[in-house]
Amino acid sequence: MPHHSPLISTIVGGFVLAFLFGTLAHRLRMPPLIGYLMAGIAMGPFTPGFVGDTNLAQELAEIGVILLMFGVGLHFSLKDLLAVKWIALPGAVAQISIATLMGMGLAWAIGWEPGAGLLFGLALSCASTVVLLTALEERRLVETERGRIAVGWLIVEDIAMVLALVLIPALSGLLSGQGASLSAGPLLMAVGLTLGKVAAFVAVMLIAGRRIIPWVLERIADTGSRELFRLAVLAIALGFALGAAYVFDVSFALGAFFAGMVLNESDLSHRAAEESLPLRDAFSVLFFVSVGMLFDPSILIREPVLVLATLLIIVVGKSLAAYAIVLVFRHPRSTALTISASLAQIGEFSFILVTLGLSLGLLPTTGRDLILAGAILSILINPLLFRSLDRRIPALEESEGQAAGLRPVAGEAPSHAPLHSHVVLVGFGRVGHLVAMSLLEQKQPFIVIEDQPDVVKALRADGIPALYGNAAAAGMMEAADIATARCLLVAIPNALEAGQIIEHARALNPQIEVVARAHSFSEQTHLEKHGATHIIMGEREIAKGMAAWVALQESAEPYAA
Ligand code: AMP
Repeated sequence: MPHHSPLISTIVGGFVLAFLFGTLAHRLRMPPLIGYLMAGIAMGPFTPGFVGDTNLAQELAEIGVILLMFGVGLHFSLKDLLAVKWIALPGAVAQISIATLMGMGLAWAIGWEPGAGLLFGLALSCASTVVLLTALEERRLVETERGRIAVGWLIVEDIAMVLALVLIPALSGLLSGQGASLSAGPLLMAVGLTLGKVAAFVAVMLIAGRRIIPWVLERIADTGSRELFRLAVLAIALGFALGAAYVFDVSFALGAFFAGMVLNESDLSHRAAEESLPLRDAFSVLFFVSVGMLFDPSILIREPVLVLATLLIIVVGKSLAAYAIVLVFRHPRSTALTISASLAQIGEFSFILVTLGLSLGLLPTTGRDLILAGAILSILINPLLFRSLDRRIPALEESEGQAAGLRPVAGEAPSHAPLHSHVVLVGFGRVGHLVAMSLLEQKQPFIVIEDQPDVVKALRADGIPALYGNAAAAGMMEAADIATARCLLVAIPNALEAGQIIEHARALNPQIEVVARAHSFSEQTHLEKHGATHIIMGEREIAKGMAAWVALQESAEPYAA
């Protein structure tokens, strides 16, 4: 047996160490991605012990980026993308410019060439797709308005970076201060050609891809082979990413995003998303490991002040710029905060720019070390930023909902008549709305809590009492008069959030009956531990329904015969 197989040892080392460190982080109540980064540092070349192959790890991480962007594309329609263009396009361009100028300012202050400054600034200006999407998906934000703005922003950044990668080599003579002759013609040609290729790619995907990809997937679904279907999904995501990069010179991420987007209208998009999920999660973990592997901790001792300045540009400078831009476009503060936190980190594009800068002799090695240190530290800080946002946003949304004409929740006298022996229904989605219809038929008094403003507005228009906001937020249960309620129906799919809601409700009304929704036995146990009295598990109910149908047929048979 050959023992030297760098690919296998990098994959296995990555998964095993990420698992160990990720579990440890979880035990210490930290986000697991901090564990994955630590795993990367542990298997990187700058720490003793096992060393993985850095280049291979970065390539493997690309697969994570591709599958993530494909998954996001599956939830995006062209309409969604166009709906955010007026904020995403100018917003991303302005933010890249501001961040690049800040980076150039720092580079100038330490005496670097303008070319080095430009590269350094650009590397600090673009956020990592994986980090951004991981944070948004964890919070179910991808399909909200602010999630769409963030994804649109990401796509503009992506195209800007593709342009930068074309322009920097063309400009390298000028940027390095040598051959200073610059003719605008070839440069404009290069820009025009790159943008033309992006446009051609988008056109091909929207005209041909839109017909071919769903058609192929439907034919494969008809074969009934799950294995073939899964393979088709992977082949489409990876194949289009690679094909787009080879033929149109666009990034893998953009290729995969459009492959997903043209599937969005197909009924199969949901299944496609499910099939790509496990691989996507595994390879995104390898992304964090690969970032950790690049990190040389000695830079923290060699250049602590410069590391801090770099980090401040990424985390504070970029965030403030994004925050201000989103507010200028008249979006609510909660949206501005989410977008700025999403962008307060750097990742894969910065690494590509570093490699390019070093190969062209534009970037000093200190620049590389600072960018890598900035990347890992900003990725480490990012989940903490989001955590503090998680605490602030519900209150902000409440006051924004109030401004939008929705009844605020915490701390105000309820505008609905005081309720007694009523039902509190949390969530008005696929499950909640069916429950509500039945409650209406039975003439049972009830109140809905829902965190989608449009849904709440529609309910109120129909005369149904509804509270707007996250049911887990402070003051929500009190506003629903939980103390005098007969029962609480928790019709939301997230068991962890449901657990919090139930615990809170039980503290205010120890006698209350609580019915909650689960998808597995472990979720059932979790909910029961938090005080649920009845658990309705989806899969069990489906089984019961099927069995009942069969029984009904059998009992009907004698009559039929
Ligand atoms: P479904 O899974 O289709 O039944 O939809 C669940 C519904 O619950 C969606 O409309 C969500 O907006 C809503 N929802 C999910 N979590 C919460 C929460 N913590 N507070 C209020 N509403 C929620």
